Amino acid sequence: MIGFYAVGKPGLKWLEKDQHMEITTNVKQAKDALIKNKLIAIPTETVYGLAGNAFSETAIKKIFALKKRPEYNPLIVHIKSFAYLNEIAKDIPPDALKLAEYFWPGPLTLVLKKRDCIPDSVTAGRESVAVRVPNHLLTLDLLAQLDFPLVAPSANPFGCISPTSAQHVQNYFNKEIEVIMDGGLCVRGIESTIIGFEHNQPILYRHGALSIEEIEKVIGPLALQTNSDSRPNAPGMLSRHYAPRTDLHVTNNVNQTVKIFDGRKIGLLVFKDRLVDNGIIHQEILSTNGDITEAASNLFSAMHRLDRLNLDVIIAEKFPDNDLGKTINDRLERASKRK
Ligand code: AMP
Ligand code: MG
Repeated sequence: MIGFYAVGKPGLKWLEKDQHMEITTNVKQAKDALIKNKLIAIPTETVYGLAGNAFSETAIKKIFALKKRPEYNPLIVHIKSFAYLNEIAKDIPPDALKLAEYFWPGPLTLVLKKRDCIPDSVTAGRESVAVRVPNHLLTLDLLAQLDFPLVAPSANPFGCISPTSAQHVQNYFNKEIEVIMDGGLCVRGIESTIIGFEHNQPILYRHGALSIEEIEKVIGPLALQTNSDSRPNAPGMLSRHYAPRTDLHVTNNVNQTVKIFDGRKIGLLVFKDRLVDNGIIHQEILSTNGDITEAASNLFSAMHRLDRLNLDVIIAEKFPDNDLGKTINDRLERASKRK
């Protein structure tokens, strides 16, 4: 029998290995589960996804239920290649084609007019569908072997810190997912950038792993949507999201904020410089070289580590407001909201 010893009271206890869940790199096993309308976790370059057959109402229902995700929050469809885009979207604006060709596989999601094959439950009743080709070899291999695309929101309970490793997924969903595909740490570590189109003009719906600057190099100026829970075109972008259980404060002045919380158990989340203060229990430095891309890729794993330390407060340093600093600030702001 496969198993392991766990220390507990009154002593060592033999635990049988969980029969329901496998962390694996076996694509066939993942494929078999999906064909039976089961959910699996997939690695992508952004974060780990909780994936199911995008054409299966059964699988879609399971995703919303397991994540406790509100039904008004539509899902992103993950497809195998740029060539497949035409199967699920129509009337595609020229700039969308340009972006897809340039950035896919990659962390860019496009919101386009949907074809009838996409169920209303995927799009929360909208006539548009969000779609991307993820950039991870294991998941691309899996998608190539399937005759359906995957819906794959992040593999975490709604509102919690996104998972960037197979272990994070297992910590959230130990028994509920049959297969977790292990693709290592997510290279980008932060969600995709979402672009929609109004009258064929591109509009940024969500800051993400591709900076506005990178996108504008390909298609020119990009209009922005202001952040608001009520904005009609990017439903589900709630002000509180990506949040640890520990209170998180974002500040331009870490030294000063540390003084305000004097006497409390403090953890720090900073860009590049360590703070000298003996009262601080743990510091996470996101990039000692001051590399913003590296900082973005480390953000969620650092938040996971800090959240396990039973701190009173996490103090997070606000980033320079350009390039991926905008995306990091967006996630920190949402993580800091209490509701
Ligand atoms: P995620 O939770 O990271 O998988 O991203 C899903 C997000 O994509 C949603 O919260 C929406 O903001 C956006 N989205 C998905 N589908 C659509 C759609 N049809 N129209 C507009 N935004 C969408
Ligand atoms: Mg998510």
